[in-house]
Amino acid sequence: MQISSNKVVSFSYKLTDSDGELIDETPKGESFPYLHGHQNIVPGLEKQLEGLKKGDAITAKVLAGEAYGEFDEELIFQVPRSNFPKELTIVEGMEFDSDGPEGPMTVVVTNVDKDLITVNANHPLAGVDLTFDIKITDVREATPQEIAHGHVHQGGHDH
Ligand code: ZN
Repeated sequence: MQISSNKVVSFSYKLTDSDGELIDETPKGESFPYLHGHQNIVPGLEKQLEGLKKGDAITAKVLAGEAYGEFDEELIFQVPRSNFPKELTIVEGMEFDSDGPEGPMTVVVTNVDKDLITVNANHPLAGVDLTFDIKITDVREATPQEIAHGHVHQGGHDH
């Protein structure tokens, strides 16, 4: 069975950046399932998996623009220290959930001054060109309910 819209695809992967640094990988013997054609994985990867079948292995290079987006300088903000709880010690690398223009987003503190805190709302992988080493471990028909929900119901889960 070939990968196309409304198939549930499972794959194992190793994800590296353009320097070959490991970013993420599936634990040994495990694979990641998703519903193809419903934007559940980055668009540049979904495109390259189209037409593959169980047992196929590929190295897929995905540019940042087709993965987690380009790095956007406008997503770096300075926030008055007084916006944060007084008792909180703020250090570089701390993460906060914040309300952005398009819904909730996570920001990371990148600089701490006495009166101003600099935060970065870019996705951690924004601006990073990605290489996926992929092995397709399963392809099956999605259930009508999975298609209606737009995601996989692993092990019969409904959510
Ligand atoms: Zn569901």
